[in-house]
Amino acid sequence: MKTRKAAEPTITHDLTPDRTDCPRCGQPMWADYANRRTIHTLAGVTRLNLTIRRCHNTDCAAYKKPYRPEAEGSFALPRHEFGFDVLALVGRLRYAEHRSVPEIRVHLVGRGVSVSPRTVTNLLDRYDELLATSLTDDRRLQAVLAAQGKVILAIDGLQPDVGHEVLWVIRDVLGGEILLAKSLLSARNQDLATLLEQVKAACGVPVAGVISDGQHSIRKAVAKALPGVPHQLCQFHYLREAAKPIYEADRHAKVGSRRRSEGCGRSSGRSRAEPIRRPRWCAGTARRSVAPSPTTGGRRWRRRG
Ligand SMILES: [Zn+2]
Repeated sequence: MKTRKAAEPTITHDLTPDRTDCPRCGQPMWADYANRRTIHTLAGVTRLNLTIRRCHNTDCAAYKKPYRPEAEGSFALPRHEFGFDVLALVGRLRYAEHRSVPEIRVHLVGRGVSVSPRTVTNLLDRYDELLATSLTDDRRLQAVLAAQGKVILAIDGLQPDVGHEVLWVIRDVLGGEILLAKSLLSARNQDLATLLEQVKAACGVPVAGVISDGQHSIRKAVAKALPGVPHQLCQFHYLREAAKPIYEADRHAKVGSRRRSEGCGRSSGRSRAEPIRRPRWCAGTARRSVAPSPTTGGRRWRRRG
């Protein structure tokens, strides 16, 4: 009998670094190789296809050091298999709703994330560690940033359910380190500005830029806390938001046409995962199975907007 080893990804994202020149020496970086990651999110099992760039200047301190897509870190902790949205949900169920580990597990399974009780305990440990990240006390982190000489901050707000807390994560794009994480009930730009000011004061190196999805409160917070620092919209997030209405229309059209073709007795032998049509300049592309998974049907990873 064939046993299923792991859940198949229902969502695929192809991510490429927005940046093409080396952050150290400014010379072009080469797209050297690709990596794959599978992440369990509330939206479904997600496959990330990652293009890794490297600098080939032998005189550069970043010679052949991997530069990963900026958007990768918005999905999950480095080397972690569960998305930030799952972590944020686990944290809320535990600390805001005082649910037990078995209750959290039942909730996650009900939302299509199959986990063992042991995994829930591990997720709670990761959540506690994440929120305990303190740049001021972490010598290793300070040494990493000092060696880099600068940071480029990425800020993401993860909100598993509308009306509840937002888990804000600020990370360094160059080294991939998490610098600060905080769960806030609001997304007021004043609260975000305070977080950014904390990071700026503690990191000990200049903030060379900020990357975000460009939502209004983040733009205002960056302008207040980091005046004059370039603020770039993450192409991946920006395009994902922009493509949502197109994606929905596309999905309904495909489901409709597939049902019609099946009704005519034509088998659809081609791949069920098809790319969304996007402009050629698009850095990231997204695919999703045509038929929504019964466990995740209609549920989306909501971002604070
Ligand atoms: Zn270089």
